[in-house]
Amino acid sequence: MTAAPENNTHNAISSERPLHFLEQQIEKDLAANKHQKIVTRFPPEPNGYLHIGHAKSICLNFGLAETFGGECNFRFDDTNPAKEDQEYIDAIIRDVQWLGFKWAGDIRYASGYFQQLYDWAIYLIEQGMAYVCHLSADETREYRGTLTEPGKNSPYRDRSVAENLAEFEKMRSGEYDEGTCILRAKIDMASPNINLRDPGLYRIRKQSHHQTGDTWCIYPSYDFAHGQEDAIEGVTHSICTLEFADHRPLYEWFIENLPVPSSPRQYEFGRLNLNYTVTSKRKLKQLVDENYVDGWDDPRMPTLAGLRRRGVRAQALRKFCEMIGVTKSDGVVEIGMLEHAIRDDLDKNAARAMCVLNPIKLTLTNYPEGESELMIAAGHPNRDDLAERELAFSRDLFIDAADFREAANKKYKRLVIGKRVRLRNAYIIEADECLKDAEDNVIEVKARIIEGTLGNDPADGIKAKGVIHWVDAKENTPCEVHMYDRLFTDEAPDAGGKDFVECINPNSLSILRGCVAEKGLVNSEVGQTYQFEREGYFCRDANDDKDTIIFNQTISLRDNFNG
Ligand code: ATP
Ligand code: MG
Repeated sequence: MTAAPENNTHNAISSERPLHFLEQQIEKDLAANKHQKIVTRFPPEPNGYLHIGHAKSICLNFGLAETFGGECNFRFDDTNPAKEDQEYIDAIIRDVQWLGFKWAGDIRYASGYFQQLYDWAIYLIEQGMAYVCHLSADETREYRGTLTEPGKNSPYRDRSVAENLAEFEKMRSGEYDEGTCILRAKIDMASPNINLRDPGLYRIRKQSHHQTGDTWCIYPSYDFAHGQEDAIEGVTHSICTLEFADHRPLYEWFIENLPVPSSPRQYEFGRLNLNYTVTSKRKLKQLVDENYVDGWDDPRMPTLAGLRRRGVRAQALRKFCEMIGVTKSDGVVEIGMLEHAIRDDLDKNAARAMCVLNPIKLTLTNYPEGESELMIAAGHPNRDDLAERELAFSRDLFIDAADFREAANKKYKRLVIGKRVRLRNAYIIEADECLKDAEDNVIEVKARIIEGTLGNDPADGIKAKGVIHWVDAKENTPCEVHMYDRLFTDEAPDAGGKDFVECINPNSLSILRGCVAEKGLVNSEVGQTYQFEREGYFCRDANDDKDTIIFNQTISLRDNFNG
């Protein structure tokens, strides 16, 4: 990438914006000496790739730690081996590194605390605060009650401590089948908060775990694991999305009732929702598994891997996360805002290049055959640090089919017979005639150079109508260009019980073959994004097929959408 040396102000409190509620909270806690140093954490479950929503959580957690001189831990919440995979762990680490954040110490795993969590489960049993329950899943649901009706006590609720210890040991040693019993906390079946109606702490899963192998056949629930992991790590501010607000009383119940080494507090913020996008790993996995897209890193995916492959720079995502802010309520962000951040970043940082997407021949009849010259073009209009380019120029060039018409009205600022345009970074030319194929498509334009117009206006005072891009017919880089449109045609693809796959845009990918880019792009690096002048931003793909160079369209130059 053409990274500019830039000031990293994304999380500097010096910016003019007011502090958001979490920054205010932390400032207050530090002022009151509640903590010497804050500790946050980013706790993904390795059951899929990270998406744009996770970027918000990453920027928030790591950003707060940087801002307040604290630390942010990176912890895999790997309590459900059935859905998790080493591939996801590797991908998630790559993405967090790419975003440019540094975690404190080693990467941590919930599974690293399984023994401690198990010991605390025993502790709760010994305190008479947990029991093994053999109700079936259906019965458990029935006993739980509803939002308006209290639940009923399980018939297993009043077992003795000794019996519960023995039953839990049978769970642990594999004597019971999956689904036959669970360990539950003994709290209050009549609580208005359903999360406190004797929630499950441990369930049986006869599954190998990617980190612990076959050591365990019982696994802790999210609720029983999360707060305790925070406490073990000395996390001070455990920040999660709003849907966990109802779990907070349970989070606090465990912290109060277990001999944990510290007292973390949970805070909730509004998750990022983007229109025209789904941000749920489960749904993104469905797109991959059912081959609607070409893998988790398909450039149409809102995953960090997909955005990266599309040519989006990490700086643009960090900027976007700063722009959307942090609030206590959920909302939907316009995808146009993300696109704005991407475009703005690339405008400032992407090197310029020329690429003709739909080539037709341009023959300059007054340019000597067999001769050529080198044109010098800027790497970027305001960035001297981006190298100048050398462009071969000769009698035979390519221009885009869309940049020529036999006749046109005044609004058409491109090449027309009898009229002039400037070839970008080169001469002004005037078109004389065109040749067509049997289907009446223009296949070649014949034109003349106006002498003395390299860097100058024509001596005869007849101006060019516009500027078009071109590529030399011999000295060029043949390539394939993948053009992308939004993956969903519906603004809210998964709202209100809709089946999101039915909103998939059938034209989200179009492949242009036979494109030609300027010669220098033969040496472009994978992952490097360019502005193809007059066309948009494009990123060199990491395709393994060495014979074809592929560029993925990152984004158009201007917004095509009104919104
Ligand atoms: P998904 O529903 O996509 O699986 P998740 O919340 O289950 O998301 P986790 O791996 O558990 O995924 O998430 C790790 C962290 O990222 C959590 O703290 C979670 O709150 C946060 N997060 C997930 N999605 C979003 C989002 N859309 N906006 C902000 N934060 C998010
Ligand atoms: Mg989850």
